[in-house]
Amino acid sequence: MSKIIGIDLGTTNSCMGIMEGERLLVIPNDENFRTTPSVVAFTKEGGLLVGNQAKRQQVMNPENTVFSIKRFMGRKFSDKIVSGDIKSIPYKLVPASNGDVWVEVAGRTYSPPELSAMVLMKLKKDAEAYLREPVEKAVVTVPAYFNDSQRQATKDSGKIAGLDIVRIINEPTAAALASGFDSKVRTRIVIYDLGGGTFDTSILELGQGIFKVLSTCGDTHLGGDDFDQAVIDYLVAEFYKAEGIDLRNDRVALQRLKDGAEKAKINLSTLDSVEITLPFIAVTKDGPKHLKTVLTKTKLEEITKDIAESTAGPCQTALADAGLRASDIDEVVLVGGQTKMPLVRSVVKRIFKKEPYAGINPDEAVASGAAKQASVLKGDIRDILLLDVTAFSLGIKTEGGIFSKIIEKNSSIPTRKSETYTTTKDDQSFVRIEVFQGEKPMAADNKPIGTFDLVGIPPAQKGTPKIQVLFDIDANGIIKVSAKDLSSGKEQAIKITPESGLSNSDVDSKTKELGNDFASRLSKGEKLQAEQNYKETEQAPGGEENLPASAPAPDREKQGQKKSIFDLFKKKDN
Ligand code: AMP
Repeated sequence: MSKIIGIDLGTTNSCMGIMEGERLLVIPNDENFRTTPSVVAFTKEGGLLVGNQAKRQQVMNPENTVFSIKRFMGRKFSDKIVSGDIKSIPYKLVPASNGDVWVEVAGRTYSPPELSAMVLMKLKKDAEAYLREPVEKAVVTVPAYFNDSQRQATKDSGKIAGLDIVRIINEPTAAALASGFDSKVRTRIVIYDLGGGTFDTSILELGQGIFKVLSTCGDTHLGGDDFDQAVIDYLVAEFYKAEGIDLRNDRVALQRLKDGAEKAKINLSTLDSVEITLPFIAVTKDGPKHLKTVLTKTKLEEITKDIAESTAGPCQTALADAGLRASDIDEVVLVGGQTKMPLVRSVVKRIFKKEPYAGINPDEAVASGAAKQASVLKGDIRDILLLDVTAFSLGIKTEGGIFSKIIEKNSSIPTRKSETYTTTKDDQSFVRIEVFQGEKPMAADNKPIGTFDLVGIPPAQKGTPKIQVLFDIDANGIIKVSAKDLSSGKEQAIKITPESGLSNSDVDSKTKELGNDFASRLSKGEKLQAEQNYKETEQAPGGEENLPASAPAPDREKQGQKKSIFDLFKKKDN
């Protein structure tokens, strides 16, 4: 049987793993990094860049560099998350004809699954180069709260990338699987996952080889980016105090501040203080201005304390939903890059009243768990049964707009459940089945996920026909709903049509299109990037960080004209 790799398709970074016999292996990318930024960039010349290369040129090409696409998977343009993000991201979000959110970039529109597929294709390519054999199958992880459209969209991206996603598993379950706790003994664990842009906390119970998610809660707008923003705000305010210049309106300066802030934050996880140096951050008529300051760990903790503390609320909700107290928890597992910050660790310790588990790398836990599950599916590991749960209740709209729940939140999957309904009018020949997910009593207050009509009901008095509605959720968390008229004995079952997402033919055409030109566009992008890097190195041999702070100002800058750092490099060496 061919190899199945595990992929943590992350919002900020992605990671791949595989089990080689008993050994868990993280698959490095072509630059030998163990994680790959989930970033796709389109160059002016029609080339593509994915991963580190795309991230590196983000400062110079912000409108054509797509990051955090996972936030928009399976979402409508009208979604709250989209309207919240649209102002802050530099690339353009547009509504598709079915109301989904798409991205307009480099003169074309792309659906989120297509962009995500580009990340997957790059991962696949790197894995194949590393393993020296074709990789066609993968277990891919998604957040536990991902709904049906988001899971479908993830499956579609696999298909477009030429990768068969044999199973989708929830990220916390994967992390638990990777932690290697003895799943025979009942253990209650918390997975505290704070990544670049999102926060999730899940409570799982392990026992008799079963991994059961008891509850999950989070904040889709909380992550490492917020810590970076706090540092940026601090640096901007300090610079304003010292120089009277407001950097907030200079996009290039802001991107450089973001890089500097993130680097400083990461280094302060192990150091007590760092120096942040951003030469030529602004240009005035008196010449260039440089940002040079020292940030201490104490200061960083002071300005980010509230952000770290705000993770406590979702943790308490997850505990309450699971009917547990902090003292009932046996282990706390940290996942996501931001949990490497000592302040975050101390907040977690206070919430759960115990030292977090130290035996697993937060960046690799999810991919490692996916790799383990791949091994279970291949039959190489036999004693683990993985049980996930639905993160929402599911049901249909009934008379008066009331939401009738068929599957309760936190039910183990796979699952099948049915309820019987009837007609509200005499001789009603069809019923409209409107499917919703959520916890509110009125259907309109929940999220619609699909609609279909059951037609051909024989004439009968109202209240007589028996219409059975069956919900079937598979192990990937993907839902099928069918309806059957029991009273006539005539069976009619119809599958749900998702309210959003790509049609099968869309997926097929995009698969062909990307399959045809991904490799050539990627190699074009990488080649041009390499040439560009070479030119820049030639022009600024020491790199930005090593420029002397007192470098003479180029003539144009003396005249007060603002230029990008790229132009400054060029001019300086002329
Ligand atoms: P992830 O989404 O799990 O890849 O996490 C990415 C986030 O983790 C980014 O905001 C990074 O800045 C942050 N991060 C990575 N390493 C560290 C570190 N050593 N200390 C603090 N934050 C980190």
